[in-house]
Amino acid sequence: MSTSGAPKIVIIGGGIIGCTTAYYLSRRFGSRVTLLEASKHGVAQGASGKAGGLVAKWAYPKELVNVSFHEHVALAEEHGGSSRWGWRYVNCGSWEGRAGISGDADPGASGGVSRKKSLEKTLGLTDGGVTKNARRKKTRLPDDLRWISESLTDSYSPMAATGHTAQVYPYEFTASMLELAGANGVEFVTGQATSIEIGDDTGDEPGRRVTGVEYRDPYTGAAKTILASHVILAAGAWSPTLLPQADLPIAATRAHSITLQPRSGVIISPYVLFTEIKLPPTPDDRLTDASPEIYARPNNEVYACGPGDDSPLPDTVDDVQIDEGACDSILKHVSSVSLELRQAKVDRRQACFLPTVSKGGGPIIGEAGNVAKGLIIATGHTCWGICNAPGTARAITELVEHGEIRCANLRQLHPSRFI
Ligand SMILES: Cc1cc2nc3c(=O)[nH]c(=O)nc-3n(C[C@H](O)[C@H](O)[C@H](O)COP(=O)(O)OP(=O)(O)OC[C@H]3O[C@@H](n4cnc5c(N)ncnc54)[C@H](O)[C@@H]3O)c2cc1C
Repeated sequence: MSTSGAPKIVIIGGGIIGCTTAYYLSRRFGSRVTLLEASKHGVAQGASGKAGGLVAKWAYPKELVNVSFHEHVALAEEHGGSSRWGWRYVNCGSWEGRAGISGDADPGASGGVSRKKSLEKTLGLTDGGVTKNARRKKTRLPDDLRWISESLTDSYSPMAATGHTAQVYPYEFTASMLELAGANGVEFVTGQATSIEIGDDTGDEPGRRVTGVEYRDPYTGAAKTILASHVILAAGAWSPTLLPQADLPIAATRAHSITLQPRSGVIISPYVLFTEIKLPPTPDDRLTDASPEIYARPNNEVYACGPGDDSPLPDTVDDVQIDEGACDSILKHVSSVSLELRQAKVDRRQACFLPTVSKGGGPIIGEAGNVAKGLIIATGHTCWGICNAPGTARAITELVEHGEIRCANLRQLHPSRFI
């Protein structure tokens, strides 16, 4: 990637990919970086603030995870991640059992979700660092896992070796990245990008090149332009709207989640559980099941998320609608296997859109030189964007600085494979 003169970089999107990239770029380019975010409420209002927060060596794609996990460890050490964004190692297991704790809630109810989709987090598990012994299913729970019912457990198996799974609070991590970037001079602008400006490159290598980003000021409605030599498209599920000419294969999957505050005195030990809950038969005698992911968090909070659905993507992150039925379902399912969660107070009910790659594979990372020089795509992180943000940020910074990605071979993720 040729750059005549010092680059001027605009990042579109203040999710975890945009904010982490802003921080990594700021260490090299400082105030030559601008981050543009559409939400009136600041960064991390979408998936990046509402995700579970798992960071795993067994995530995918491997070439990106290998860089990202190491970068997460380094960031946490350098910036006090454990107190600042809840960085810690966590146990992770697969739990199978039956719904059995009843009350007025009907654990069989499936809520208002039209078509359910798995978030597919466990696809990367081949061996995950787990020994054969550890993989064998056990009916007994680990001694310190007391917040899910032992008597309703059919099996429990660890999914990864100790030290292979960690977690962060995704909102705090993302906001911290922006704060650190700001301290290095990055400018934060609130506004919805409406187009990526492309013109003729009159430099040494003729062709098309990005020249800037046009955006709408959310308060005045005025159209404004920021000039740029490099534009990083990190707008998550909204990314295709900014590249109408390229048919970017990014689809949007809505997913719901809730957070719970257990009663005082209840200790939530550090486990993330991928559950498979058999629900009671329906009136027409169909057996159904539910698979919420349940995350213990460092502040004793519990996060749980359900399946995805294909509700249409709204204009901005601020317009995302919550289907209360989908949140009720998650609550009923987790309450049906844990008295501790049944008695907990619901703090947050939320929904967001996950950016998935409709052709499979991804994320998409690299310069889309066939569209325009200086146009860098960083999106489609599916269910592993929290984990893979630092590797993405490092790769993009190398691309802008050296014209090539040096930390890993990310050829499989190059935009030319997707558009
Ligand atoms: C329920 C659930 C659980 C998850 N759990 C995990 C997990 O445990 N671990 C993990 O690694 N990943 C997890 N993920 C995945 C992770 O949340 C995503 O991969 C990641 O947040 C994607 O980040 P992003 O920055 O690409 O997108 P987003 O977070 O969606 O951010 C995109 C940003 O771009 C902004 N934007 C959009 N259009 C414009 C525009 N025109 N102009 C300016 N700004 C714009 C949006 O407002 C938004 O802030 C989970 C996802 C879900 C849904």
